[in-house]
Amino acid sequence: MRHTAFIGLGSNLEHPQQQILSGFSELEALPDTRVTARSRLWRSAPVGYAAQPDFVNAVARLSTGLEPEALLDALLAIERRHGRRREFPNAPRTLDLDLLLFDDRSLDTERLTVPHPRMGGRAFVLRPLADIAPELRIPGMGPIANLLAQCADQNASPMETSPAP
Ligand code: ADP
Ligand code: MG
Repeated sequence: MRHTAFIGLGSNLEHPQQQILSGFSELEALPDTRVTARSRLWRSAPVGYAAQPDFVNAVARLSTGLEPEALLDALLAIERRHGRRREFPNAPRTLDLDLLLFDDRSLDTERLTVPHPRMGGRAFVLRPLADIAPELRIPGMGPIANLLAQCADQNASPMETSPAP
């Protein structure tokens, strides 16, 4: 059975733009998985711990035969290949991959919460997501347009070098 999943990508270390572009390629290379849409690249100021470089953020839409936990494992394996170390919450990172949405499911296990619990209040997730899914309704959170309006004051801008989706 095919599923539609949205993945949030973020990086603020070691050539962030390159990290994101190679992240897209590695998502495309996952078993039984295609990248069916990619957002523009966005630049955002760090949240929570400010003394670190700006982030580059993006969102990919996948068509996949993987189930949620297998997809999470695959995302964590890509992060490890990018040298990601988990030092402290909101620390700088070479590549962060979050499973934002999986079909219209709501999941809550020890390892996985979907929709991603913090996505609804983060412009750096919602703006790239809206590049590729402007009409989306997020389970338990509502239409993306409403969520976007609520975080209008946050900072996240499209990068000049990124082509339109
Ligand atoms: P954050 O992305 O919030 O800064 P981390 O990437 O360090 O935090 O946290 C990853 C951990 O969060 C993973 O080990 C995973 O088990 C858990 N997790 C729970 N839900 C999700 C999700 N939807 N996407 C990615 N990781 C998740
Ligand atoms: Mg993460």
